[in-house]
Amino acid sequence: MTTQTTTSEFTVRTNWQANHEGPGRWVFSHAFRYWPVIIGIFIGAFGNAALAGLVPLLTGQAFDAIALDPPDTALLLRAALLIVGSQLLRGLILQMGRNFSAETLGQRLERDIRDELYGSLIGKSMSFHDSYPTGDLMARATNDVREINFMFNPGLNLVVGSANFLFMPLLMSPGIHPQLMAVPIVYLAVYGFVVSHYLRQLRPASEAVRETFGEMNTTLAEAIDGIETVKGAAQEDFEITRFGRSVANWQGAFLDRSKVEARFYPLLLMGVLQAFGLLHSLLLFRAGGIGVGDVIAFNGLLMLLRFPTWAGQFAYSRVASGLASARRLLELINTRTDLDQNESGYQGVMQGAVTFENVAFCYANQETACEIGASPVTLEDLSFEVHPGQTVAIVGQTGAGKSTITKLLNRIYDVDEGSVRIDGVDARDWNLAALRQQISVIEQDIFLFSRSIAENIAFGRPDATQEEIEAAAKAAQAHDFIMDFSEGYETIIGERGTTLSGGQRQRLAIARAFLTNPAILVLDDATSAIDSATEDRIQRAIERAAANRTTFLITHRLSQIRWADLIIVLRRGKIAAIGTHETLMATSETYRNIFARYE
Ligand code: ADP
Repeated sequence: MTTQTTTSEFTVRTNWQANHEGPGRWVFSHAFRYWPVIIGIFIGAFGNAALAGLVPLLTGQAFDAIALDPPDTALLLRAALLIVGSQLLRGLILQMGRNFSAETLGQRLERDIRDELYGSLIGKSMSFHDSYPTGDLMARATNDVREINFMFNPGLNLVVGSANFLFMPLLMSPGIHPQLMAVPIVYLAVYGFVVSHYLRQLRPASEAVRETFGEMNTTLAEAIDGIETVKGAAQEDFEITRFGRSVANWQGAFLDRSKVEARFYPLLLMGVLQAFGLLHSLLLFRAGGIGVGDVIAFNGLLMLLRFPTWAGQFAYSRVASGLASARRLLELINTRTDLDQNESGYQGVMQGAVTFENVAFCYANQETACEIGASPVTLEDLSFEVHPGQTVAIVGQTGAGKSTITKLLNRIYDVDEGSVRIDGVDARDWNLAALRQQISVIEQDIFLFSRSIAENIAFGRPDATQEEIEAAAKAAQAHDFIMDFSEGYETIIGERGTTLSGGQRQRLAIARAFLTNPAILVLDDATSAIDSATEDRIQRAIERAAANRTTFLITHRLSQIRWADLIIVLRRGKIAAIGTHETLMATSETYRNIFARYE
């Protein structure tokens, strides 16, 4: 047996692997692929801050030049020209370069992370998708991924940009007078302390915002997905109230985060800093340590700290949100599933022999009731054998486990006990792609993509030609109704096939099966409410589809049950009777009862 726990059934091949050890490492391992862009951001940020620092220094010099008697106009002109030149360079090249680099990085990261997430979601097993609400997945795949973009731009862009402004007074003030470093150093230390405290508070607040947003999406997705049920039961008010509650939770979390953001104390510190800076420089001036121009230059330098103080409040919040989102995304990507694609597994051409031997199975989310031997388990002690080309009808009440049997064939789920063998090879020892490509399942709830009819038919074989698609549609008795649409095979179907009737959807699904030409076909047939003309067409389509391949029919149609080679009567997950129609009529009370009920 080769089953093992991995993060996906199917790995999407990439020539590059992100680090999955933690949200920060994950995001930055994505970002460091674009290291030249990151260097661009740093150069832009440093240059921008250095040139911004030049302005107060030159202004100080200009004051000194005016104070001279007569004023030194040459010096004044030089200072003015340098200010104009440096600020043009700053605005036109450095700032623009930094912002453009940050935007590029944010967009590329969003794309890469979206790609990785999509590949990961598609690769997850069914048990994973059973346990994750679609709305929450959608929220993560759209908004959380977007938050990572915002985390880099404007988030980290502003953090890096403002950090350089934070250090500039420290670097430049010793040039005026070494003692003037005192106020910037104290400010930096207090700023560091306050910001780390702020970040600690921001983290849970940001996580709560992301989480409640996911919950709100789940509620919305479920209400819209189940809109028919909601309307059918006249539960609109109830659903609106439920959604209102989710919105209120989200809004509450948002306001809580805003409260944390509002308590960003560096804004307060800034005022204190200015007062102390002015006091210190005036004291130095009085002691004769520095001139008037130096006082002006130094106090101008302190003004640079306004940018980190102001931008910090917003930028750290974006970073915290981004990290909260990264944590949620990585949680999805790292979720383990228990099926693997078994690349080195058996890949033969399938003949269609199926053997179930003492199979027991239980859905993972019914864990508490899952002890084999206790009831209820979904399937228990199932043994039967099907020869290539045979047609098997599975009958039994709703919930008996009929669909579940078919899900074990192509390893949508794995058995808990016993084994399912296809052509004598345990399903778990098959190469998963080879196994699934040779088994087609037509589900009760036929899913059609909102693409053209031709694309929907060719879903399992995107390389099929138009002739092949039409031949399959003809065999499935679908060609005529397709040609009734004005755009024929190019007609785009609404999501979930809403523009088609149940019978039409089923025939498209059968056409899909003709095209993939599987060795095993499973037909989970729920279209009982179909008029007899359509029924007749479907019947013919199914007969053609079942010829020359092993076919499992889950059906209530007596005509189909009657001509099956093997009938399995299922009762609460166990085989109540098995055999042909004649033997079962003769030997099984349960079968006779079912048969009588269907008639
Ligand atoms: P049938 O096809 O005979 O109507 P199913 O095989 O669909 O029955 O279901 C058998 C049992 O397993 C039912 O009790 C059903 O509620 C449960 N079940 C089906 N699908 C799932 C699932 N994805 N997760 C948990 N339980 C499930």
